[in-house]
Amino acid sequence: MNLQGKLINGVWQGGIEWTRIREVSGFIRRGYTWNAIKGCRHGCAWQMPDGTVVECYAKGVAERLAQAAYPRGFAAHYFDSDAVADPLSVHERAGIFMDSMADVAGAWVPAEERDQVLAVIREAGARYGHIFQLLTKAAPGLLRFDLPLNVWPGVSSPPDFFNDVRVGAFQRANRMERALGILLSLALEDPSRVTWMSFEPVSYDWSAFVRQMPGALRWAVIGAGTNGSTVYDPQETHVRNLLEVLDQQGVPVFFKGNLRRAAQRWGLAWREEFPAVDTPILKEAA
Ligand code: SF4
Repeated sequence: MNLQGKLINGVWQGGIEWTRIREVSGFIRRGYTWNAIKGCRHGCAWQMPDGTVVECYAKGVAERLAQAAYPRGFAAHYFDSDAVADPLSVHERAGIFMDSMADVAGAWVPAEERDQVLAVIREAGARYGHIFQLLTKAAPGLLRFDLPLNVWPGVSSPPDFFNDVRVGAFQRANRMERALGILLSLALEDPSRVTWMSFEPVSYDWSAFVRQMPGALRWAVIGAGTNGSTVYDPQETHVRNLLEVLDQQGVPVFFKGNLRRAAQRWGLAWREEFPAVDTPILKEAA
């Protein structure tokens, strides 16, 4: 597992900020990424307002900085059995992003591997109260999991391209409506289940879709596009419209650090909000 960020003068900085979950009491947990399942076949890319196409951040990391861990490229599937039990080595409650370099709900992931990962999640939830943040582009894949409450099931808003093929208007609408519908069904199962969506980067005005599915989201992350260290700001109206509907629905919003420049330019108050419900500690592993 990789600890996210560093504690500098008593303040955590860097890494994937939203893994450092702030509980309702205000207590901030350490954040980690954990990738027992690695690699992803979606090939996501987004077209930003200036026309630049930005690629999946994880793909860039895998193919430029971490080639040794991805010898067959990022689109291949890997299962790191040595890493499966890693969450059990952290004994203080933490936030763990369980697929920063993968899509664990992808159709290509074998059920036995998902089951091994889920068994550790349950054990880590019962022993230490760990919270696992899951993000997928394959929302129907969430229905194949028997998700314990210490998993926050999340869906990323659809990209503009999958493997170099542009996502058309019908497919985009279909994917978004299906994703929100699945999250709504999961949210309705339990009032303490944190369903969420990552809008990173925002490259489309998603507000109308979110408006028609109140209750689907209990948390939202909003960010800009990046290519390495270069940041591509979203369109201001897309972000403002999305914020308006999220605020109307009372959905807490977390801004990724890469949105800071745009937020300052637009005069948006900075947000680092977390869900308004605490995730329960599981009573037992099974
Ligand atoms: S689903 Fe996530 S990891 Fe997979 S290609 Fe898309 S952005 Fe990258």
